[in-house]
Amino acid sequence: MIKRCLYCQQDLNDDILPYHSDCLRAHFADLRLKDTAELTYSDALSNDARNGKAIPGEERIVTLPLGRNRPYPNYLVIYPDKNDPKRIPMEHLLLTLASLSGIKVPLFGFFQTNDGLGLLLRRLDEVKRDKLGFEDFAALLGRGEAAKREGSYEDGKAVLQQYSAYPGLDKAEYLSRLLFAFLTGDNDLHLKKLALIEAKTAYRLAPAYGLSSSVISGYPHQLALTLNGKKDDLRLTDFEQFAARLGLTPVVLPRLLNRLLGQEKQFDQAIDDSLLSEEDKDKIKRLIKERATILSKN
Ligand SMILES: [Zn+2]
Repeated sequence: MIKRCLYCQQDLNDDILPYHSDCLRAHFADLRLKDTAELTYSDALSNDARNGKAIPGEERIVTLPLGRNRPYPNYLVIYPDKNDPKRIPMEHLLLTLASLSGIKVPLFGFFQTNDGLGLLLRRLDEVKRDKLGFEDFAALLGRGEAAKREGSYEDGKAVLQQYSAYPGLDKAEYLSRLLFAFLTGDNDLHLKKLALIEAKTAYRLAPAYGLSSSVISGYPHQLALTLNGKKDDLRLTDFEQFAARLGLTPVVLPRLLNRLLGQEKQFDQAIDDSLLSEEDKDKIKRLIKERATILSKN
């Protein structure tokens, strides 16, 4: 079997580590592989002090150890779960598709653990020596964990209006996030998966994280929250009305749709290259084609 780089997915040739040395240097220069590789989730937890910390309330996510001069851990690893084996391949694929679509995502790659392939993510809220402010929409709206799937995407508009330093730009990015969720069947984009992050002392919409798809999630509905009063049977007109309600000029939605729907070949290639089963590859391709058709006409 040809070994592939866990970052770029290309053949690994003679590299000894699970990444090309160039990929490591360019993207994960501060990752201390030798301390972290090939642990199981329970090892990682039991070795907490040396190897990082579990994130409270986030099953199977562990932060990676601190460098000597780093007060905050820079990486998260999502460990694979044998009860949910499709999560890592799907999340990796959706991050790939999102970045092809011009949506901001954290730096990501696979990560070898003794439980199987995990997902490596650079933390959004830890940059160099600073800990950045990071607040999800549920907290900003004063809603608890239990209410994260209640409400509407219009509530997100209020958050951006009130707290974003660049509400116009963030509203366009927010709309592209919702279009991407609809296109890829992400019906789990709730209020705790949308956040604002501190950027140069001002708050902006945080990069996308926690991506999922109905192909594997089993949740009902097309979207997790209502958009234009609907969770199902969404049409292009719903997004047009929503864009107008966000106060975006009429050119924004077509521009976002062009960018999103113009990636068909690259999407198919990324799906073919993904670690999903052949059956799930077919399912997500079919879903994306159906949704693209809906977004292409009224
Ligand atoms: Zn590589």
